[in-house]
Amino acid sequence: MNILAIFAHPDDLSFYSGSGTLARWAEEGHSVFTICCTNGEVGTLRRDMTKEQVTEKRLKELKSANKILGIEEPILLNYPDAGFINGPELREKLVYFIRKLRADRVMTLDPWTPYEVHPDHVVVGRMASEAATFASFPLLYSDQLKGDIEPYSCSEVWFMGFLGHQPNCYVDISSTLEKKMTALLKYEGSLEILAKLFAPDIDPANVTMEDMKKLTKFANRLLRSMASVTGKKVNLKAAEAFFVQKILPGHFDNFQQLMSEMLGNPPEPPKIY
Ligand SMILES: [Zn+2]
Repeated sequence: MNILAIFAHPDDLSFYSGSGTLARWAEEGHSVFTICCTNGEVGTLRRDMTKEQVTEKRLKELKSANKILGIEEPILLNYPDAGFINGPELREKLVYFIRKLRADRVMTLDPWTPYEVHPDHVVVGRMASEAATFASFPLLYSDQLKGDIEPYSCSEVWFMGFLGHQPNCYVDISSTLEKKMTALLKYEGSLEILAKLFAPDIDPANVTMEDMKKLTKFANRLLRSMASVTGKKVNLKAAEAFFVQKILPGHFDNFQQLMSEMLGNPPEPPKIY
């Protein structure tokens, strides 16, 4: 399979569900591609760095994380960070990449999550979903159809991050948990931003080397425990949870499940991979 993860900021795949599953698919021999839409250049509370310096640091972290996870180098779209993405333009680009990479499965942020305030998460999740469901229509963006670029039917969208729904799918990441942890602890800038979560006494605008050691230690403990708590729900040692939607051209396929429930069948239990 060709799998394409589409996200807004360099660290989006790392802290919740995402990277452990992508690493597992890569180990199983699937081709795993990633598209990062912005460089995340405003993602710091520090006053001693320019946007260019933050970009350089975060993209370096992303590239080394992908290497650890055993997946392809990221494709960078270089949109400005924090609310300036042109949605329809992004959708056209994403349709192009889904066709070019022949993506069977798209993983992205859930734009319908309640209280999701980050405009980049909302627009990227939404445009990735639209692109995945529309890439099969030959009359849409037909000027893209040259050379080996053909309309392509993507089969599924996997929503990650804080989900707006009960998960309907769990992936066993016990074989890739170490890779996930090593990759995510590379994101020093993100650990600074999330300091309040891991160590409330550390000032995120002023993180010393000593603080960073503490943050890394606490983050390591908390995120391992998240994987294990998620896993416990389905009797796995470590898991990531997703909300998966199957695709009919131009739609998500909610119809089959709805029809089955209308016939009096109980809702399907979550799938475990
Ligand atoms: Zn983000």
